[in-house]
Amino acid sequence: MQYRIDKRSGNKLSVLGLGCMRFPGMFGRADLNKTEEMIMRAVEKGVNYFDTAWMYPGSEETLGVILDRNNAREKIYIATKLPLILCKTASDFDKYFNQSLERLKTQTVDYYLMHSMTDAQQWAKLKSWGIEEWIHSKKKSGQIKQAGFSFHGSADEFLKILDDYGWECCLIQLNYSDENFQAGIRGLRAAAQKMPVMIMEPLLGGKLATGLPKGAVKIFKNAGASGRSTADLSPAGWALNWVWNHEEVTLLLSGMSNMEQLEENIRLADASAAGMLGETEKAVYSDVLKFIRRACKIGCTGCNYCMPCPKGVNIPGCFSSYNTMHSLGFVAGMQQFITSTGLTSETGSGPGLCVKCGKCESHCPQKIPIMKELATVRRRMEPWWIKLIGVCARAFFGTKRKK
Ligand code: SF4
Ligand code: SF4
Repeated sequence: MQYRIDKRSGNKLSVLGLGCMRFPGMFGRADLNKTEEMIMRAVEKGVNYFDTAWMYPGSEETLGVILDRNNAREKIYIATKLPLILCKTASDFDKYFNQSLERLKTQTVDYYLMHSMTDAQQWAKLKSWGIEEWIHSKKKSGQIKQAGFSFHGSADEFLKILDDYGWECCLIQLNYSDENFQAGIRGLRAAAQKMPVMIMEPLLGGKLATGLPKGAVKIFKNAGASGRSTADLSPAGWALNWVWNHEEVTLLLSGMSNMEQLEENIRLADASAAGMLGETEKAVYSDVLKFIRRACKIGCTGCNYCMPCPKGVNIPGCFSSYNTMHSLGFVAGMQQFITSTGLTSETGSGPGLCVKCGKCESHCPQKIPIMKELATVRRRMEPWWIKLIGVCARAFFGTKRKK
């Protein structure tokens, strides 16, 4: 296994982290034996970072039981997350944290993350509830070793949150299909100067492994046939290598749900290195991307020059989701749209917030008619049933959306 150093804590972290959202078995009811086999095989091969969350059904409990009965807690680092969406008062911080400790059968959490931050306003609200003091007290007691946040929002909001607290780690989405999506490369570079950066969705929910258009798969296959280092590399392997190639990345999370995926990922991680990709390989990604983007509808490069929008619309996030829907399918597009426009959050950042003030369009180097395209995105990606899901989710979580 390859390791990279978390410079803040000195921890030596495996470049492959095990994402614990989808264990083998039914969602929420993991097959304990199969999961145990997989987790212990990962530990044996040197994987030492396990990422779970209070919100992942059955995940903390399953991980806790397996680590306990194999005496493996001290061999690994556990990352788990505070379900911000469920927190209504300051007392909820303790409530969910204690439940996580109990489920994980542990006294300490190595990396404790605020789950799914989307904007600075959300962080400001947490601060008004005393979250900074709460984190400080947990660190002082030794129950939290490193404090951080996971993020789904625009790059501008990410940078604001990043600079507003002494975070010790962050978890962001990154893959080769869109390096400007959410925090993106800009966020990665800024964060890596201060803290370890963990990467989620390196395979875009599996789309870059098994959902690529046939032509893109062929490009990878032909490239593999001509280069020794890339021989027999699957599309998933190409996608993971792209992430590991960045020296700013500390580790990536892969949500493996069977032994075959685990063994492949371990092999890839063993052979990975920062700066491993040469010009020939980079040209292959570029060809694949051209192929994928041919199916894209809006020529947005994610440069962010149109941001910030005074009404809080995540313009590049909306366009990227719309393009993903056309290039990689409806589910992948909607998944991106929901996470990047804060469907359940207080303010949201979807296309429906646009008041057509026109401030953004003159900044766009691609001359995209932003207002018109946002209306299209809204029609296609905010149908009545998505709005209904948002309303129900906000009612369920007790989130009041500001007008
Ligand atoms: S036109 Fe719409 S998207 Fe553009 S800045 Fe104004 S409100 Fe924001
Ligand atoms: S300025 Fe244009 S190309 Fe850049 S992110 Fe905004 S819409 Fe996209």
